[in-house]
Order: sequence, then C-alpha cells, then structure tokens
Amino acid sequence: MGRWCGIIVVLLTTGYELVETQEIGKFWHISDHHLDPYYTQSAEESIEICPSSYGRPITDPGRAGDYNCDSPWDLIKSSVDAMKLINPNPDFIIWTGDDTMHTDDEEKYLGTEMVLDIIGNITSYITEVFPNTTMFPAMGNHDYHPKNQHAPGDSEIVTALAEMWSHWLSDEAYASFQTGGFYKDNIPGSTDQIIMVLNTNYWYNSNKQVSGTGDPAREFQWMKDTLAEAKLQGQKVFIVAHIPPGYFEVKSNFDMLWYYPEYNDMFISIVREYHDVISAMCFGHHHTDTFKIIKTDDGEAISSLLLAPGVTPWATTLPGVVDGANNPGIRLIEYEKNTMALMDYVQYYLDLGEANKNDQDSLESLWVEEYRATKKYGFSDLSTGSLNNLAENMRKYCEPKNSDCPPSFRDYFILNSVSYNFNQCDEDCQKYQICAILEVEKEKYEDCLRDWGSGAPRQTEIPSVLMMSSVMWSIAAALFR
Ligand SMILES: [Zn+2]
Ligand SMILES: [Zn+2]
Repeated sequence: MGRWCGIIVVLLTTGYELVETQEIGKFWHISDHHLDPYYTQSAEESIEICPSSYGRPITDPGRAGDYNCDSPWDLIKSSVDAMKLINPNPDFIIWTGDDTMHTDDEEKYLGTEMVLDIIGNITSYITEVFPNTTMFPAMGNHDYHPKNQHAPGDSEIVTALAEMWSHWLSDEAYASFQTGGFYKDNIPGSTDQIIMVLNTNYWYNSNKQVSGTGDPAREFQWMKDTLAEAKLQGQKVFIVAHIPPGYFEVKSNFDMLWYYPEYNDMFISIVREYHDVISAMCFGHHHTDTFKIIKTDDGEAISSLLLAPGVTPWATTLPGVVDGANNPGIRLIEYEKNTMALMDYVQYYLDLGEANKNDQDSLESLWVEEYRATKKYGFSDLSTGSLNNLAENMRKYCEPKNSDCPPSFRDYFILNSVSYNFNQCDEDCQKYQICAILEVEKEKYEDCLRDWGSGAPRQTEIPSVLMMSSVMWSIAAALFR
C-alpha cells in the first residue's frame, strides 16, 4: 500500500513528468546440493549405493537419486541445466551453501581435498552453464572439513574458496571473504543495493571452534558497520546466508535452535536496529520450504526471512523426524530493482519418484513449476506484512481447539517438503511449524509451544522447561543438516 501511496503523491506533485514504474528483475536462489560422489545404482548394499544413506534401506535406487541418499551428480547437473532452460539470463544467482554429502565417517568419505573437489565441480559446472552471470556464494556448515568446525582465522578451505570463486567476487569482496568467509558487494546494475553474504558457520552451535560468546571473526561488528554505513548512504542491504536464526520447523525430539543462544539474540537485535535498511533475507540449511518472521520485543513484525529448499532429497536422520525427505527444488525470485523488495517467486522442483520411473525424457526437462508464491497464498508481494499475515492467519485458525487449519496451512505443509509429504500434519506438527515461523527468539518460541491451544496470553514470563542439555544438542546437531 505504501508504495502505491508514494506513486500517487509523486504523480500529483510532478504531473506528466512522472513515470515511476516498477522494474522487476529475477534471480535464482539455489541451496544445499549435498553431492554424494559415491552414489551408484549398481550396488547391492545401501551403504554402497550411497554412504549418505547411513545404511538405511534403499530398494530401487534411481537415476535421479533416492530419498535416503544425498544428490548424485546427475541430479545436480540436471538442476543447473533446468535453471538454464527455465531462465538463462537471471540478473544474478545466490547459492546458500552445503555442497558435500552427509556422512558419519568423514575420514573415509570426505577430507579437505574431497570437500574442495566437490565444491569445485559444482562451481565449474555452474560457471560453464552461466558464464556471464554473477554468483553470490555463501558458506554452509558442510563446506568445511571437519564439517561445522570452522574456526576464525586463517583457513586452507576459505583461502581455496576465495580463489575458486574469485571470478564472481569484486576485489573488495574477495579480500573480505579471505579474512572470514563473508563479504558484501553491489547488486549487479545498482549502486544503491548492497548484498551482504554472511558466514553463519561461526554462530552454529555445532561449531566447537567457537565458544558461543564474543564475536568470532568480528562478523557481528562488520554486519553492524555495513548496515550503519548503508543507512548513512541511503542504500538497502539484501542479506544472504546458509544457517538461519530461530528453530527448525519440522517436529523432532529436539528443539533445534541452530545458533548459540547469545548469537541468536545478537542477530535479532541487529535486525531490529537496522530493519529499515534490510530489504530482504534469504537462507538455506533446512532443505525445506518455509519462512520466518522477526519481531520487535512488543511483537510487531518488522522483518522476515525466506528459506529455499535444497537440491538434495536426503531424508534427515534427526531423531524424531518421521520421513523427513523432500523433493529437489530450485527457486526463481522476482524483485523490484529500485528497492530490492522481493515481489514473488516461482518454486520449481523435480518429483524424484516420478523422474526415476521415467527413462525416456532428459532429467532437466522434468523440473517443473511447483507453485507461484503470490498465486498460491493470495498475497500481493513477499513483504514482511504479507508473510506475517499468512502465518498469523494459520496460527489463528490452527491453534484453537475444535477449529480447523485454513487451506493455506495445508498448502504450506505440502510445499514445506517440496510436494513430497502429503500426510496430515497433526496438532503437534502444526504447533512446531507455526511457532518456528512466528517466533525466532528462544523464550518467545518456548512460550509459543507451551501455550499452544491453551488460550494463554503469549508474552508471559514462565521459566523454560524445554531446555536441552548441551550433550543432547551436540548429538542432534551432529546428525543433521
Ligand atoms: Zn547446513
Ligand atoms: Zn544442508
């Protein structure tokens, strides 16, 4: 509404001179490729078909992969080829990390060299298919060896990645990346729009190379300085990273807050301070299709994050998750060039089960539109207001006893697994999904779970009974994502 009011005001004041039109650009958001280079259809034992199965049963491994495996090369290749078929000229691409396979035996299957080989192969192929497109890559927790254990300071992997990605990075971004795996740059074609690519590995609670206090690699300080400078210059900042703040939305045996609690608070407080400078935020890591709202202390929605699903179909091993696989997804986002406001996206996907049954058509031709966000949810853009209304509407009708969730929640839930899981989402499942969207702060999230369906006021202070021991955290997080 605000933008239209602005246009009308300008029309009245400048008369016929005015031509303020929206110029819509497009970019790809891809994430969580998780290549399993050992994948083969011609083995008997599931651990040999793909080590990323952890030995879980695989009855009929297909050419596009298996829901218990990470991505075979052919699946990743087909995702890049499909991007080329669908939109060969995006303004840029964001790539939110996690390129290597899940395994409980990194010594056997991975290592620094293998991690760099895998990232290098994906980098080369994307560069070959999109030779003139700028890519903004972010580091994921699986883009390191050992996984998650990214220490601040000099790092062989970060140095190698800076070289590998130097053709995409400006000189300033390259120098910044070398020091900590994070950087900023201009959005192509604009000097008013900045992209800020964070390295969230330093904030991840599975990273034992950091303590969970202080400011590893001074990244929070850099984030604040960058936002403050942008504010001064009248610029907007688009934030891109791998691990999001807040919780995993799929019900499990754990409440998965990814960041160390102090870092989660720190991130939220920076967003609160600079929300008017932040145009949008895009993350990965969950492998699911979801979003998150960031609020003031008083509960006013002021910012939001979109989480794009992964390319890997891999069913999570997180204890308590029932059948936590997804179909592979790639996302084409539409944005308003003057403001970098996100207007819409089209989610494309490969129905892995169907693709494996089809041995006639090329894999890339089987990637199809899953849905268009505005059409599916009936909102006009991807603003925080639109996303918050959607989520609050879900809460309003899902939460009370003897009430039914709205159709939008049913749609959301199916899309959450990229049209893989068509089961019913029971009351517990609804609660975890919706609380993770609406509450990224630890206390507020715990209140949301505890008070769900009770009709209790939402901001009461009651001591948390949902704390997990650090040992349980480690077990859960080490297994997952
Ligand atoms: Zn991850
Ligand atoms: Zn991942």
